[in-house]
Amino acid sequence: MEAPEALKIKRAHCNGCLGLRKQFILGETKWRSGSVVAAGYEFEYHRCLFALKCCGCDHFNIKEEGYFTDIGEEPSGDPEYENYYPSKMFRKLPGRSSFHSLRKHAHIYDLLEEVIHAYHGEHYRLAGMGLRSVLDYVLTDILEGDKGFQEKIDWMVEKGHISQRDKSTLAKFIEIGNAAVHRGFAPSQEDVDILLDYAMTFLRNFYDFDASLAEIHGRVPPSAPKLPKLPKSRTPSDGSAA
Ligand SMILES: [Zn+2]
Repeated sequence: MEAPEALKIKRAHCNGCLGLRKQFILGETKWRSGSVVAAGYEFEYHRCLFALKCCGCDHFNIKEEGYFTDIGEEPSGDPEYENYYPSKMFRKLPGRSSFHSLRKHAHIYDLLEEVIHAYHGEHYRLAGMGLRSVLDYVLTDILEGDKGFQEKIDWMVEKGHISQRDKSTLAKFIEIGNAAVHRGFAPSQEDVDILLDYAMTFLRNFYDFDASLAEIHGRVPPSAPKLPKLPKSRTPSDGSAA
């Protein structure tokens, strides 16, 4: 997009780039939303809405900012709060078609999408609970049967799907999810990032890598034919030297 001189630039989060970027302000509106009294003083409350277009990736973003000012003053400086519509996104879920053999298990991908929505909405406990459920569905699907978590983890090892080392990691993941469900554990965004990384890798391992690596492997050029062995070279010691 060209940069018409009339358009101002603002730094804001871009849901296309998944980070803070310079953006064209396509439109903005500001209004006094009311007043509040705190500690004996009356403040005005302002809301500002910005329609933005990322200078880097052209993605459209809507940002709302809220300011408190003295009566009659214009808002300035850093906002008291900010919102994005939709919420800020920090990671993208691979497309449904990326998980080749997950296509017949739509409910697993659907739940994963809901987990990502909870994550971007800063509902980290819900995201943790949801990820535990995703892995529960996956284990039931792989084992073609249901049981308690501990039994299913043991069966995963027994059937050779995971190693003893994987078993220990998977048990930790499930225990964190259980703590979010039953013991009020509130994971941070960073915690959920790691849980998401683990769950995505688990899904890739069981629903994707076989097919996607086979597809890439099919495009690998064949090896060049091997050259025949050279005949043993003659040396002065065998009497052939001039
Ligand atoms: Zn962008």
